[in-house]
Amino acid sequence: MTTAADVDAQAVSNGGVHGASVVTQAAASGPDVNAAADLDDRRTLSISPLLSPADVRRAHPIDDTLAGIVRAGRKATVDVLRGDDDRLMVIVGPCSVHDPEAAMEYARRLAAKAAEVSDRLHVVMRVYFEKPRTTLGWKGLINDPHLDGSFDVNTGLGLGRRLLVDITALGLPVACEFLDPITPQYIADLVSYGAIGARTAASQVHRQLSSALSMPVGIKNGTDGDVQVAVDGVRAAGASHVFPGTDLDGRSALIRTAGNPDCHVILRGGSNGTNYDAASVAEACLRLEKAHLPQRVVVDASHGNSNKDHNRQVDVVTDIAGRLAAGDRSVVGVMLESFLVAGRQDLTLGHAADLTYGQSITDACLDWDTTATQLDRLAAAVSARRSASR
Ligand code: PEP
Ligand code: MN
Repeated sequence: MTTAADVDAQAVSNGGVHGASVVTQAAASGPDVNAAADLDDRRTLSISPLLSPADVRRAHPIDDTLAGIVRAGRKATVDVLRGDDDRLMVIVGPCSVHDPEAAMEYARRLAAKAAEVSDRLHVVMRVYFEKPRTTLGWKGLINDPHLDGSFDVNTGLGLGRRLLVDITALGLPVACEFLDPITPQYIADLVSYGAIGARTAASQVHRQLSSALSMPVGIKNGTDGDVQVAVDGVRAAGASHVFPGTDLDGRSALIRTAGNPDCHVILRGGSNGTNYDAASVAEACLRLEKAHLPQRVVVDASHGNSNKDHNRQVDVVTDIAGRLAAGDRSVVGVMLESFLVAGRQDLTLGHAADLTYGQSITDACLDWDTTATQLDRLAAAVSARRSASR
């Protein structure tokens, strides 16, 4: 069992982490906050210091050039979502980042491709560090950056932020899923598109968080295919909330938000089938209309919409490209899971060296060449829609 005094001692021995002295003073001047020690921390094995968001931001700062790229990335995202920019948004990249080197190689290829089609597509790279699991499994680069169960989160936060800086420096806006309510303070200033996953779409914590985030946030339908939960999430996140969180120094803080007007639904399919087809999109739009929300969605070609077969993402693109070319404006964005090498592989914790370079260790992905072809097809569909509307 860890006592408050232990935590304090660890904090001080680690070079004086924020808040440590405050704890000491409180303990010295008031009642013992851990008087019934046997009632507390019954299952907590340790509580150890975490770098503050400010510490990590200072180590990997955002400069004027990077800030300009994020501003432009967010503005384009908002403009596409609101229909003020007739390009299609494509959120594309690995299910999860486990190897920063491979992620950078992917980012360099994607940045070049994105520039080539930038007149028709607003390309945002998926740089996902936090993985929600159905049961158990590796939870992402922030949680376990060494892929060995050592859970070196202080390193993970720095590694994650560094990668966002390096990818943004290529001129590529990035997308992250926000899962843990503490981590956004470490990275959110570099993010142009946020996502709330299917497993947390109903969570009040995540809706409150979305109401605070400075970028547009897509909320997924539930894993059972329930779209209403995402519509409700968009409504909730659009409103003002007051809730406990942390400030940049990592202290507990009360957060009051204005609400996020740029939240929207992501259709990802589910255990009841796919929902990328025209009828499913129309039904989702009807739900949005009833909730007095803009009738625009992002379609995730992977997950429930690919039935976990990465090749089926191509079928989803085919369907959507056809509808776009015919004039559809209800699908404003497409999400693809894509990496250097097709498919997926299992990670054995502690054996990262055995992994195939550039292949996903979470959901199966399209390979690079197939991805580039899908971007060309979607760009062609936007061209066709423009010609048709002239
Ligand atoms: C993902 O985007 O990789 C993901 C976990 O999605 P979902 O929440 O839709 O399962
Ligand atoms: Mn995935």
